[in-house]
Amino acid sequence: MFLKEENYILNKKVKYYTKEILKYVNFTILAIAIIISIILIKYKPTYKITLAGEELGYVQNKQAFEENLRQVILQNEDKNVDMMNIAVEPEYKLTLLARDIKTNELDIASKVQDEVVITYKYYDITLDNDIIETVDTLQEAEELINSIKQDNEKQDLNLSIIEKYTQNKEDIKTDDIDIAKNQMKNKIEEKENYITEVNGIKIAYLPVQGVISSRYGVSSRIRKSNHTGLDIAVSSGTPIKVVSSGKVTYAGYQGSYGNLVKVDHGQGVETWYAHTKEMYVTEGQEVKAGDVIAAVGSTGNSTGPHLHFEIRINGEHINPQNYLY
Ligand SMILES: [Zn+2]
Repeated sequence: MFLKEENYILNKKVKYYTKEILKYVNFTILAIAIIISIILIKYKPTYKITLAGEELGYVQNKQAFEENLRQVILQNEDKNVDMMNIAVEPEYKLTLLARDIKTNELDIASKVQDEVVITYKYYDITLDNDIIETVDTLQEAEELINSIKQDNEKQDLNLSIIEKYTQNKEDIKTDDIDIAKNQMKNKIEEKENYITEVNGIKIAYLPVQGVISSRYGVSSRIRKSNHTGLDIAVSSGTPIKVVSSGKVTYAGYQGSYGNLVKVDHGQGVETWYAHTKEMYVTEGQEVKAGDVIAAVGSTGNSTGPHLHFEIRINGEHINPQNYLY
């Protein structure tokens, strides 16, 4: 009983002091609230923005500023913009600014826009890993592929979309969707309508169209050995097309061949184009099937303008007429 009595008195005391403390706390909170309200009537919390030590002005907050910056840049840029980074990140410092002073996000954004590094995005469409078109948006790329695949016979085509990024706007060579559609159709047709296959390499073009003037394997008084290629007589200057895509392994003067271009197509298949008047490619250059690589001439051991054309498999010349002409 006695213990209980004492507890009762203690409880009363605690209650009293708690009440008193709460009174002061309430008063303090009220006072702070009033002070804050007075400050907020005259001032607003604002960010002072500094770029590389230079004070630029005041902005509401980082998000609002970056949104304004985006708008300023997008006025002059187009749909390829993917990301914008400010080369030097600005510093934001929270301050109180008198309410009658306006923040100037747009002005600051104009000042800062030269410091912005823009990353552009575009899309390559590939067929069997060769780029056949480039467009601005993923939607366009998908639309193009869908429109091609609507043709039942083309459903199995190995078409893919590759997302590409660059910070150099000059790199972007995109086509409008209508142009892209036509070019894709042409490229696909080219690939499908190849003339023949040599060791798995698709030959899509004749190097020149003309009259066969000397066949493979024949002997001639102007040659020591049997003929290693096929001669096609055409007028001087006729463009010579490379028969399949590949890499130029030689472009120079080589004895009786005269000006000679050799192109490696992979799988050990090489094609040679001899006696040319002019060569438009250099060693190491990548060429696409149908590219004009040289002009017909009569350089080297030749009695008149013609193309001497060779096909080699693993270094051995074969009869081109097993495949072409
Ligand atoms: Zn020849």
